[in-house]
Amino acid sequence: MLVIKDLHKSYDIGHNKLHVLKGINLEIGEGEFVSIMGSSGSGKSTLLNIIGILDEKDSGIYELDGIPIEHLTETKAAEYRSKFLGFVFQSFNLIGYKTALENVALPLYYQDVPRKERNQRAMEYLEKVGLAQWANHLPNELSGGQKQRVAIARALITNPKVILADEPTGALDSQTTHDIMKLLQDINNEGKTIIVVTHEPDVAAQTKRNVHLRDGVIETDEYIQQVVL
Ligand code: ADP
Ligand code: MG
Repeated sequence: MLVIKDLHKSYDIGHNKLHVLKGINLEIGEGEFVSIMGSSGSGKSTLLNIIGILDEKDSGIYELDGIPIEHLTETKAAEYRSKFLGFVFQSFNLIGYKTALENVALPLYYQDVPRKERNQRAMEYLEKVGLAQWANHLPNELSGGQKQRVAIARALITNPKVILADEPTGALDSQTTHDIMKLLQDINNEGKTIIVVTHEPDVAAQTKRNVHLRDGVIETDEYIQQVVL
């Protein structure tokens, strides 16, 4: 599904370069549930953003579903993102003046799906995450966990190949974290590939494979006995 070879990324900081990723090698197959761990500033988000075609590598290879991701125009990058990828963020990134249903339906709007079908499908996905009764509520009327469920429904609605989640439970209490990870486990058990960035060991233990970043490289990469919720 995803092949990364000798990938490097630096940021320009004034006259200096900050070499964040120093030769990442990673292959992730269809249906995997992978956590990317590492201390704050170790480059987890940088790697996830490159995987998500939100940022560009400096060198190395990145292939997504067999397609080399290289020098894309913004139009092409947006096309690949909407075709292959679903995003979940720590801060939910919902649109405040749109209802839960409208937020979930939004990716289909950009794919020119007719309104009636958009709303039908958004309702199906809201049901899937247990929020059908909240369809017409605005984000500020929802709890953190409910907002993240809306975000997960929105990420799933285009049936992407891979879900990318950057600290999806970072803003949630421990019970809500449990519920969200259970939902991600259910989604993974239906066959969806999921990559989660987290600094919480408990969260990483609930995935099936731990990748640990340190000093710009992958220090450890191991399949684990998943803690099933
Ligand atoms: P993590 O997600 O593991 O906390 P990041 O990938 O966000 O780490 O950041 C890795 C390093 O790169 C940090 O030192 C951060 O300050 C720096 N960094 C991240 N994004 C940028 C940017 N757009 N410009 C400059 N430096 C950045
Ligand atoms: Mg980060």
